[in-house]
Amino acid sequence: MKALCWHGKGDVRVDTVPDPKIESPRDAVIKVTSTAICGSDLHLFDGYMPTMEAGDVLGHEFMGEVVELGSAVTNLQKGDRVVVPFTMACGACFFCQKQLFSCCDNSNPNAKVAEEAMGHSPSGLFGYSHMLGGFAGGQAEYVRVPFADVGPYKVPDGLADEKVLFLTDILPTGYMAAEQADIEPGETVAVWGCGPVGQFAIQSAWLFGAGRVIAIDRVPERLEMAKRLGKAETIDFMNVKDSVYDRLQEMTKGRGPDRCIDAVGAEAHGWGSTPAVVDRVKAAVGVGTDRPAALRQAIMCCRKGGTVSVPGVYSFVDQMPMGAFINKSLVMKTGQTHVHRYLKPLMEKIQKGEIDPAAIITHRLPLADAPKGYKTFRDKQDGCVKVVLKP
Ligand code: NAD
Ligand code: ZN
Repeated sequence: MKALCWHGKGDVRVDTVPDPKIESPRDAVIKVTSTAICGSDLHLFDGYMPTMEAGDVLGHEFMGEVVELGSAVTNLQKGDRVVVPFTMACGACFFCQKQLFSCCDNSNPNAKVAEEAMGHSPSGLFGYSHMLGGFAGGQAEYVRVPFADVGPYKVPDGLADEKVLFLTDILPTGYMAAEQADIEPGETVAVWGCGPVGQFAIQSAWLFGAGRVIAIDRVPERLEMAKRLGKAETIDFMNVKDSVYDRLQEMTKGRGPDRCIDAVGAEAHGWGSTPAVVDRVKAAVGVGTDRPAALRQAIMCCRKGGTVSVPGVYSFVDQMPMGAFINKSLVMKTGQTHVHRYLKPLMEKIQKGEIDPAAIITHRLPLADAPKGYKTFRDKQDGCVKVVLKP
């Protein structure tokens, strides 16, 4: 089959690889009908994640049709259309029982490698390095899905792929980010990053009762989308008179936003193609002296007693402004998304038309063009917000 493989920093290729097979009774094999490129894939593409090996198949946002089933998977049938959570969960361990699915203790066979690299071991993850299990991903024609008796969720008839694909990750991620922000009715929520995760965090903030949402980014098309789809006020952090902090102070009469969401993460990707642009962005966000920029800003800008919710991914960055954190009595909530928790309620919201995930898609490409898709998405070219690949 054809699959998108990682070959090194900035080098992904569509290769021919062996078809996946059932390896355990709890497996399924899915024929992928739609798959997307995630901001998290950019951490791999830009070479920030160790324990990647040349030839690893990428992709953790995918859906498709069940074509093979292990003997223990009785909840699915061949031909079912399913969305698959990007995190793997056994469904039975201490953490799964608490619905902390992304903390599952049994789904990462390489937990020891993760412990060595990071000092902790998250759940297994599709297409996301060997320390997260070494599982082949779903930017491919077919994918093996372990724990298929727990993860895959059947799509009700009549819903197109594009309506439900983002249930695999970024829609629940944006939603959980807003939920974890503890928004009280009428409060002001500031969201750093207007990528796909930021867009859904912005839209979800209203569902949790926000009175005002302020979105921060620098990419014009993304800020425009935050205004149009997310009804947010926006701050272009590259074109702000003093600083994002000052602007937010001004907008909130000197108190700061009640709830702050960091939908950027450790490494901001695609800061322009020329060194001059990169330097300008670094100067604007204070990278080098002040990393990680968005999280630090979120902490510094949040009003006292507020909440900082962090869907952005941080694996190896530990420079936290702890003094401000303590002195301001902040609460921080974070986590890889417990996707399984949100499949049913969010599927219902999609069916009722309360949320239209497909509206953020700007690029549709065949799998063969995935390498181009990665570059366009990383460099925020051509108005790109979200790329969907069709194997
Ligand atoms: P993305 O790269 O498309 O979007 C990030 C956005 O942040 C970009 O638009 C960029 O211009 C903007 N940005 C960069 N620096 C900024 C700053 N200092 N202030 C404000 N905006 C800034 O990525 P995405 O797909 O939206 O994902 C966002 C983050 O969420 C990534 O770190 C990704 O790994 C993470 N993520 C986490 C989970 C989870 O389960 N917690 C799931 C999916 C993605
Ligand atoms: Zn993702």
